[in-house]
Amino acid sequence: MKKTPSSPKSKSTQKLPTNTLEATSPTSPPVEEMSMASVTSDIETQSEDTSKPKKRGVPEGLWQRCPGCQAVIFRKQAEQLLGVCPECDYHWTISAKQRIDQVLDTGTFEEWDADLTSLDPLNFKDKKAYAERIISEQKRTGLRDAALTGAGMIRARRVAIGVTDSAFIMGSMGSVVGEKLTRLIERATAQDLPLIIISGSGGGARMHEGIYSLMQMAKTTAALAKFHEAGGLFISVLTNPTMGGVAASFASLGDLIFAEPQALVGFAGPRTIKATIRIDLPEGFQTSEFLLEHGFVDRIVPRNKLKLEIARSIDYCGK
Ligand SMILES: [Zn+2]
Repeated sequence: MKKTPSSPKSKSTQKLPTNTLEATSPTSPPVEEMSMASVTSDIETQSEDTSKPKKRGVPEGLWQRCPGCQAVIFRKQAEQLLGVCPECDYHWTISAKQRIDQVLDTGTFEEWDADLTSLDPLNFKDKKAYAERIISEQKRTGLRDAALTGAGMIRARRVAIGVTDSAFIMGSMGSVVGEKLTRLIERATAQDLPLIIISGSGGGARMHEGIYSLMQMAKTTAALAKFHEAGGLFISVLTNPTMGGVAASFASLGDLIFAEPQALVGFAGPRTIKATIRIDLPEGFQTSEFLLEHGFVDRIVPRNKLKLEIARSIDYCGK
């Protein structure tokens, strides 16, 4: 948008002392759901009740009902279409790992900061203790927290990439998600890499961590400001859902903002807004299409074009 494609930069500031990178893990840990690269329904991943361990990414049968058109879809066919309904183009929620596999060149992902895990600064408890919830979410999703970050290649262009996963406590941003993304942004700045963050976060800031989660909004934003000053290219990809503190911080700050078709993107949910201001909201409010029309989203990119569009944008911006 406002980006100058070839902003000059001083190369002397680009090099990062190598010791700051030592903590990174060169390979991603084996994630158990990988072998079953299957489509997960929105109903499973957006459920509020995360207390019961649920099998995620594991096919329950050969067929699956599409939440978009209610058609019964052959699961294999939807998988081949990267988790998109062949009848109505509905984009199923997919895991962060599946997203990485879809967007990066095969076998090029090196995960960063894989071992970070949340503390429980408030001794928080709702239906269950936060510390217990973290452990059960880790078992259920195969993730340490709601974000995967690292480096990899997109059509042979090296990028820094982060993905948030709406299955892990609604993809909410606690201290681990904020820290992982901040380190990602800082390394992208130091190594002069294009930065891609694909958001799938219905939860916004993670209230289980109170003020610590809110601070992540400022932290990621400040890191992005430095990235921007250094002339970096940040492509933010909004997927269903991107809400709350995630939408209100890094996800909205892309030089280019892509969105998947019909994704829910906003701050407070439509029901909350309607209950607060007591007027009828415009049709399609908070969808990608509405936000494109109103200038917030730059382009709607179907899932099977995402890799191509990112590569093309990197080239176009001279990165
Ligand atoms: Zn459908």
